[in-house]
Amino acid sequence: MNEAVATTASVPDKQDFIRQIVRDDLASGKHAVVRTRFPPEPNGYLHIGHAKSICLNFGVAGENGGLCNLRFDDTNPAKEDLEYVEAIKDDVHWLGFEYAELRHASDYFEVFYRSALKLIGDGKAYVCDLSADEVRQYRGTLTEPGRNSPWRDRSVAENLDLFQRMRAGEFPDGARTLRARIDMASGNINLRDPAIYRIRHVSHQNTGNAWPIYPMYDYAHCISDAVEGITHSLCTLEFEDHRPLYDWCIDHIDLAAHRELWQPLLGAGLDTPVSRPRQIEFSRLNISYTVMSKRKLMALVQDGLVSGWDDPRMPTLQGLRRRGYTPGALRLLADRVGISKQNSMTDFAVLEGCIREDLDSRAPRRMGVVDPVRLVIDNLDPALAETLVFANHPKDPSLGTRAVHFSPELWIEREDFMEVPVKGFHRLVPGGEVRLRGVGIVKCERVDKDGERIIALHCTLDPATRAGLPGADRKVKGTIHWVCARHAVPAELRLYDRLFMVPDPDDEDGGKTYRDHLNPESVRVVRGYVEPAAAAAAPEDRCQFERLGYFVADRRDHAPTAPVFNRTVGLRDSWARGAPA
Ligand code: ATP
Ligand code: MG
Repeated sequence: MNEAVATTASVPDKQDFIRQIVRDDLASGKHAVVRTRFPPEPNGYLHIGHAKSICLNFGVAGENGGLCNLRFDDTNPAKEDLEYVEAIKDDVHWLGFEYAELRHASDYFEVFYRSALKLIGDGKAYVCDLSADEVRQYRGTLTEPGRNSPWRDRSVAENLDLFQRMRAGEFPDGARTLRARIDMASGNINLRDPAIYRIRHVSHQNTGNAWPIYPMYDYAHCISDAVEGITHSLCTLEFEDHRPLYDWCIDHIDLAAHRELWQPLLGAGLDTPVSRPRQIEFSRLNISYTVMSKRKLMALVQDGLVSGWDDPRMPTLQGLRRRGYTPGALRLLADRVGISKQNSMTDFAVLEGCIREDLDSRAPRRMGVVDPVRLVIDNLDPALAETLVFANHPKDPSLGTRAVHFSPELWIEREDFMEVPVKGFHRLVPGGEVRLRGVGIVKCERVDKDGERIIALHCTLDPATRAGLPGADRKVKGTIHWVCARHAVPAELRLYDRLFMVPDPDDEDGGKTYRDHLNPESVRVVRGYVEPAAAAAAPEDRCQFERLGYFVADRRDHAPTAPVFNRTVGLRDSWARGAPA
């Protein structure tokens, strides 16, 4: 399947408030070109919440003939790693997006530094010697104003000297900060002289040991946006209270007026026209039965509660991919959830609906048996070997046909037989009839058992009901799938379920944490059989095993000689009935 072609081509006229603002800005001539960016911090793997942000940023740019950058927000080197950088690039491509440019906040360290010197020169920033604890005490509360730092009125000359010495590495971690000089009485705590630089003697994955000081997010982000010519800086709602600081920095640094200062600091090719970016916030994606914070996902990995970042139960893009989710399904989800300022929880079933919808129309059908029991057709020649022709898809002839081996010895699903049937059971029972998909109607004549365990079901096939014969349309209540015991390939089938048992694992009521809500039955690994056409799949090929669900050949472990399939999703929503599948 071609991953890059999402089945849900972007709808041209999506009507959310952000797209409206962008269209208005283009119509009014405020901007000639739209530029956005997706700015992950490389401190973990991307999750499905990030997919919403990616679809929005790349979507808004793409729909308006604009450009979207991928920018690593790498200003906190202690937690960041190149492993994450590579995975994030891979994820963005996999989702089907091309970034205009790959940038790093660390590309602009010198710009940040010069901008800070300018703020100091203008009396808008000062070096503060308060400890972190003292800063907290001086900050005030939501109801009380803060107090000015005793270092707030240092002279420009002293501030310049101290800041240059911070940069030269003269002071230990935490000894001083550079703070914006705004308003300690502001109703918005983010404006009470926020720190814009701190001392950290840590090496950085891009800049090595060049910098003993690192800028704070709020300060670095807006400058990065401006330098890249970003027009609309889209972020999640928790940054709403930070917008006044974003605007303060943009106004006071005024990169557009001092282009000659920073332009030479950027490497060749980094010469986008500077912009006055506008920050716009939207609500995060939350999905029930899952946790979304990188910190918690990291803990699941580090404590061995899952097999890794790409464990198929993880809500990471790598996990979802390994589980068999398609880029098209994730883009469909983003479209369905839409963009607003309303915080909400999206039901896990909506996500599952998206992958079913995407795969239903294009996943080839195959037969496989999860919990096999032998079925022997006694009235056929034991040496009989037929090759039947099955359509790969019930509705789409363009997906072609395949050969399916048939012989008198088959594997069927153990649960398709009941010795003492419950009411309403329409499959095979002693003395009863069922249709074998594509073959005809068999009757169960005898059950071979070893103690309580059923070893084989001996049946007879009604020859008049073979496909193509006049009796083929004789009605029986049930149809079951099967594989030919002579040709079927033994396969490992990994049956996944939700990782958490409760809709909101983050809810810490009653002293519980998300770990207390892990679903102990979130994975079941079984040995079954699949038809040869399924076994032949390439890693990441998807199919529907009829009646069982959608499966994907595992990216890492599958080989045609030793097939491994992950169940992506069942055919119906079994959780709607209130119990795990
Ligand atoms: P987390 O809180 O899960 O650790 P983060 O916000 O720290 O994630 P970043 O790498 O900073 O992760 O995020 C990059 C971008 O993705 C940001 O613009 C952020 O707003 C956005 N984003 C993160 N989580 C979500 C989400 N659940 N829904 C939508 N956008 C998100
Ligand atoms: Mg973040």
